[in-house]
Amino acid sequence: MKAAVLYRPGRPLRVERRPRPRPRGEEVLVRVLGCGVCHSDVSLADGRFEAPLPLVLGHEVAGYAEGLGHVLVYASWGCGQCRFCQQGEEQLCPEAQQAGWTCDGGYAEWVRVPSTRYLVPLGDLDPVRAAPLADAGVTPYRAVRRALPWLREGTTALVVGAGGLGQFAVQYVRLLSPARVVAVERDRRKFPWVLDLGAQAVLHPREKVPRAQVVFDFVGSSATLRLALEAAEPGGLVVQVGAAGGQLPFSFDRGPAEVHLTNSVWGSLEELRDVVALARSGRLRWHVEAVPLDQANEALERVRRGRVLGRLVLVP
Ligand SMILES: [Zn+2]
Ligand SMILES: [Zn+2]
Repeated sequence: MKAAVLYRPGRPLRVERRPRPRPRGEEVLVRVLGCGVCHSDVSLADGRFEAPLPLVLGHEVAGYAEGLGHVLVYASWGCGQCRFCQQGEEQLCPEAQQAGWTCDGGYAEWVRVPSTRYLVPLGDLDPVRAAPLADAGVTPYRAVRRALPWLREGTTALVVGAGGLGQFAVQYVRLLSPARVVAVERDRRKFPWVLDLGAQAVLHPREKVPRAQVVFDFVGSSATLRLALEAAEPGGLVVQVGAAGGQLPFSFDRGPAEVHLTNSVWGSLEELRDVVALARSGRLRWHVEAVPLDQANEALERVRRGRVLGRLVLVP
C-alpha cells in the first residue's frame, strides 16, 4: 500500500510502498478514504513531539470497514483496565496507543484498528469531509463542554485561533450555551467565515480584546497564552487546547484573581459519537480541502505556515 512515512524529524515524509497491515485477533483493517492534517502532525514531523520512528502519521481517519460501511476512527486506544478507561476516558489513559502518534496512522491507504468498537458509523456523511471530526471536531467539543459551568447567560467566551478546531468551538459555544462568543484571529481572510459561524465579533490579536469568562486558546503560543490570561475575568477559566509549545508565567501578580487554568485533550469515544450525531443532523459546518496523499509534505508545509482555511484532508 502507499503511505507517507516519517523517518527523521525535520526531513520530509517519504511517500512509499509498504506491506498492507495484517489484522490479528479482534483487529480490523480500515481502508482510508480521508485523513485530516493536524498541527500536531507538524509538531511530530518537526521533532517537537517525540514518536517511535518510522511512523505513519495521521490521527483524523475516516474510511471504509467491511460490514460497517463508512466509519470514523476513534484513534486513542486505552488499556481497558485503568480508572480512565473504566470511565470511558481512553484519551487520558497513560498506556493509550494513539494512531499516527504511538503507532501507524492514516497517512496511508489502510490503517489497523484494535477493535470495531473504535469505529463510529458515518451514515451519509462524506468520509473526506468527516475525517477532521475525529480530532478537530471532538477536541473543542470536550473543551467547551468542560467550560459550560462558566458559560452562563450574559458571559463571553473568547476563542483564540479560528482554524481547524476554532471553527468548531465557535459553533459549540453557540449550540451548547447562552454565552456570547468572540474570536481572535490573525488571518483576516477568515473573518467573514467565523462571523458566519455565529461569532458575535472577530478581532485581530492587536485589537483590544474584551474580558471573558472563558478563554479557549487553540494556538498555545506564549503570546496567545498571555493574551488568554490577561483577558480572563476573575474566577474565569483559561483552557489551553493548542500545543504550539508556548509557556505562561503564572503567579499571584500575573493574571486575575481565582482564575482557573486547564488544558483539554482530545475527547472520549462517547463525545466523538455526539459530534458525529451533531454533524449528521446538519447542525455543524466546517471547511475541508482535499489534497492527494502524495502531497503530504506540501500539506504539512501549509499547516506549518497557517495557510489553511479549516482543515486539509489527505486522500489516498
Ligand atoms: Zn490533532
Ligand atoms: Zn487505560
